[in-house]
Amino acid sequence: MLLTISTTTRPATDLGFLLHKHPGRVQEFGQSFGVARVFYPEATEERCTAALMVEVDPIRLVRSRGTSSPDFSLGQYVNDRPYAASSMLAVALADVFRTARTGHCKARPELAAGPIELEVTVPALPCRGGPELARQLFEPLGWQVEAHALPLDEGFPEWGDSRYVRLVLRGPVRLADALNHLYVMFPVLDDAKHYWMASDEVDKLIRAGEGWLASHPERGRITRRYLGRRRSLTNTAFARLAELGDDVEEDLEPPIEEDAAAETATPETADTPTPQTGDAVDAVEPEPGPQARTPLNLLRREAVVEVLTEARARTVIDLGCGSGQLVGELLRNPEFARVAGVDVSARALAVAARRLKLDRMPDARRARLHLFQGALTYTDERFAGYDAAVLMEVVEHVDPPRLAALERVVFGTARPGLVVVTTPNSEYNVRYEFLTGMRHPDHRFEWTRAEFAAWAEGVCGEYGYRVTYRPVGEVDPEVGPPTQMGVFVRG
Ligand code: SAH
Repeated sequence: MLLTISTTTRPATDLGFLLHKHPGRVQEFGQSFGVARVFYPEATEERCTAALMVEVDPIRLVRSRGTSSPDFSLGQYVNDRPYAASSMLAVALADVFRTARTGHCKARPELAAGPIELEVTVPALPCRGGPELARQLFEPLGWQVEAHALPLDEGFPEWGDSRYVRLVLRGPVRLADALNHLYVMFPVLDDAKHYWMASDEVDKLIRAGEGWLASHPERGRITRRYLGRRRSLTNTAFARLAELGDDVEEDLEPPIEEDAAAETATPETADTPTPQTGDAVDAVEPEPGPQARTPLNLLRREAVVEVLTEARARTVIDLGCGSGQLVGELLRNPEFARVAGVDVSARALAVAARRLKLDRMPDARRARLHLFQGALTYTDERFAGYDAAVLMEVVEHVDPPRLAALERVVFGTARPGLVVVTTPNSEYNVRYEFLTGMRHPDHRFEWTRAEFAAWAEGVCGEYGYRVTYRPVGEVDPEVGPPTQMGVFVRG
């Protein structure tokens, strides 16, 4: 199994820094199913190519059958696994380029943060759905896709095509994103991942899909295939994607869960589970009837807008605005005369600018909006002068030792008449099946209702506010609502 990643962004040899692999050496990484090697067939200023070659040892693969092995169902010593990219290539890629996948690079931080000219080639990729599916999955992510079906046998063209494609992806894409796209899409295209679903698969998918999966037009199909079509896992993933509110463009498309329900009713032929022979059968769970639940991120926005409207706030600053969904909604309502969005992440602001169509925004609306970069733990006079401030799903992203600084900046210095804070209710986490850690990999903590109240009362005592609480989402009699909201009014 072979995969090459090339760049022409100069100096191209910086690819070595981004991948954390030296261009001058061949490096080996042992895997449970064989060995992965990284080497550079070319490394010049103009063009640099890194190759990942995975050699599968079929005997070891069979012997290591167990939950840690990505394809332990392979009961035969003769199969296509050693020759084709598949789940194992994805697993090796994730392991070998673990750091690169996070987007962190001390040596070249700016290069790691932005898109570079990339070309990814996979000579033989099992692809159930053919070249067309490869295009549908990669094009929305900014790739130019070249996918050709490989003939079963070049000597006998009349035998037709195999289920393999030769795939070439080109585009200006951030390297970490590219690796995460491949990590998710290989098993999705292969569609042979019925066998080894561990309970942390949803976490892995959410983490790798951060920033792109929630808004992908094929997210339903990607999620179902990635999770081997296990209904309970897929439903959890859908709920969590909506919960994250990453970048779901509900202006353009139906909410994820409706989408999923609709597809449940009319399953695509290509995605109908086919029973496998041998010990590979992993019973597909019964499908629940369609459920029309509103995604939590939408409920959260509605709840926040309701508080702002009740309080007759005319000017609002969204602190930690992320991809700008709330900002967009406030702008659509002329009652809000001035709307600001601030975030520490340049990437989030770029996404916000794109989804708000900042470059094409009519002047009158543009004049009401102020979008800027800033950190909530540093005093900033631009945060002041608004009727209300919103901290929607932000406090839990701040390191506990830095939280006091945020409190001072927001409640002490900016001091708006109204502050609306939402944060997960950790008690509710037991209602998410298969959730192993916190709801989001970047959360530094998640509070119970009592912990949130203790924090809120501390803030009120320190800075002279009064707080009331409102639930967001359906309230569970035992564990409360999924999201908790505190409405702080300056006393
Ligand atoms: N409010 C948005 C985004 C929540 S995600 C929503 O509900 O959809 C949390 C956001 O807070 C991220 O975009 C992150 O970049 C931002 N953030 C985290 N720490 C921050 C800080 N110290 N200063 C400014 N923004 C911060």
